[in-house]
Amino acid sequence: MDITGRTKVVGVFGHPVGHSLSPPMHNAAFAHLALDFVYIPMEVLPERLPDALRGVIALGMVGVNVTIPHKERTAELMDEITEEARLFGAVNTVIHREGRLLGDNTDGRGFLRPLMAEGFDPRGKRALLFGAGGASRAVAITLARQGAKVIIANRTEARAVELADRVNRVCGAGAAEAIGLDAEPLARITEQADLLVNTTSVGMLGNPRKTLPIPEESLHSGLFVYDLVYNPLRTPLLAAAESRGCRTLGGVKMLVHQGALALETWTGAEAPIEVMEAEVVSRLSSPTD
Ligand code: NAP
Repeated sequence: MDITGRTKVVGVFGHPVGHSLSPPMHNAAFAHLALDFVYIPMEVLPERLPDALRGVIALGMVGVNVTIPHKERTAELMDEITEEARLFGAVNTVIHREGRLLGDNTDGRGFLRPLMAEGFDPRGKRALLFGAGGASRAVAITLARQGAKVIIANRTEARAVELADRVNRVCGAGAAEAIGLDAEPLARITEQADLLVNTTSVGMLGNPRKTLPIPEESLHSGLFVYDLVYNPLRTPLLAAAESRGCRTLGGVKMLVHQGALALETWTGAEAPIEVMEAEVVSRLSSPTD
């Protein structure tokens, strides 16, 4: 579709933003829906973020996604934020409404939707989470709000403790606990868990560490393994889990669903999930650099 004076503009602010899959994913959806929208990646330095966000209003943009390292700071710069954005302390989707900026966070719902679609209901389940960064915060609070017991393990243990405290404040005492990375208790907790989620960048292309500190033998067939890493599509964790008979889910689904939720808010149209997923998978299967 031609870009004209009527074309509505959305995009993503990040630093770096060059490898983001969101532009091709959203533009494929707009083309499929014949919507006169365009999605543009924008490199925004942290010190320029307040100016860039006011620019959304000045330029009449419909909204933007924000990604690393801007998610937390953006939450402080909004006129209004949704309950989820407040609970996660981070915004990933900005909506421009008549000169005001509303901050939302679609990461939690983007994580949950594909899990539920696989028939996994977190209520009453034990979930072991690796990681205590931004993605982990959204996942931990989402799972605890769904009624799961969340156990958090992280390389920097103090961050796991901090996150468990936050989850307990938000969702009620006992919703979460932090554990260390000692092999024996970790193996025992894995054996008792229903869900294992990797929210770290371990296993991601370019990360020197390829595997989590859990013995493969403790992965059992009753365990659902969800890896937020999407590049490579089949991570070392997913490969190990499959070989042990676990049900698995890779990070592409969450990437697509968190984007789909943003697209639906901006356009009012139903997001073409399959089209978006096919675009992302094709880009990941044949990277250009
Ligand atoms: P973040 O805030 O920077 O957190 C990174 C986490 O990974 C921290 O817990 C960190 O531990 C841990 N980590 C990094 N390298 C490690 C290593 N070598 N060994 C052990 N732990 C390590 O990043 P984030 O935004 O949460 O993102 C984390 C991952 O999730 C990334 O791979 C990202 O691509 C993925 N993600 C995917 C989606 C999706 O839609 N599929 C959405 C969001 C994020 P320390 O605290 O010890 O540093």
